[in-house]
Amino acid sequence: MLNRNEALNLLREYKAILEGHFLLTSGRHSGVYVEKFRLLEHPDLTARFAEPIAEHFREANVDLVVGPLTGGVLVAHEVGKLLGKPIAFPERSRDGMEWRRGFQVTEGQRVLIIEDVITTGKTIGEIKEAVTRTGAEIVGIGCMICRGKIDLNPTPFAVVSMNLASYPEDRCPLCRRNLPLEKRGSRAEKNDNHAATNNEHPPSNEVSAESNSQS
Ligand SMILES: [Zn+2]
Repeated sequence: MLNRNEALNLLREYKAILEGHFLLTSGRHSGVYVEKFRLLEHPDLTARFAEPIAEHFREANVDLVVGPLTGGVLVAHEVGKLLGKPIAFPERSRDGMEWRRGFQVTEGQRVLIIEDVITTGKTIGEIKEAVTRTGAEIVGIGCMICRGKIDLNPTPFAVVSMNLASYPEDRCPLCRRNLPLEKRGSRAEKNDNHAATNNEHPPSNEVSAESNSQS
């Protein structure tokens, strides 16, 4: 089964870790960008990242695996397959996330929330709200990649945790070096079909896998 070092090597090998000078969704700048679709475009790789997540939650008596569109649900699908459980996804409406398409998320169900990359935890917060509104119980949060300091309850399990820094524009060392600024994510490039959320990142040499779980 994939361990954190192998996972980190795959991120590099498949060029999911980009180095340069990036404008994040949050407006902050960073020297590293995680382009998770370099993994998710390969179903076999998504499956490999799903394995440690499924193993971590195997004894959690999960009834339903939930992940956000677009990338999260791809990982949730693989985790659901390994756990032998159904999946569901909420969709954004004006009033937050809502359950459409007849998905049954009901009181007392034990729900595992899965994401591809957790950056600020904002999306996870919205999903948690959509789950708890139904009376279902959240038994865990799992992801492929997690940025270090995310305050989420329950604490997410990540295959790879990274300690990535980002900077406000007026204190960005990359701006000072006049490196060209690149926008990534769905709002920036027509070719990018997913909001690659605001991965917050630092100089490349600080990229490291800290642990197999995360904080
Ligand atoms: Zn900058």
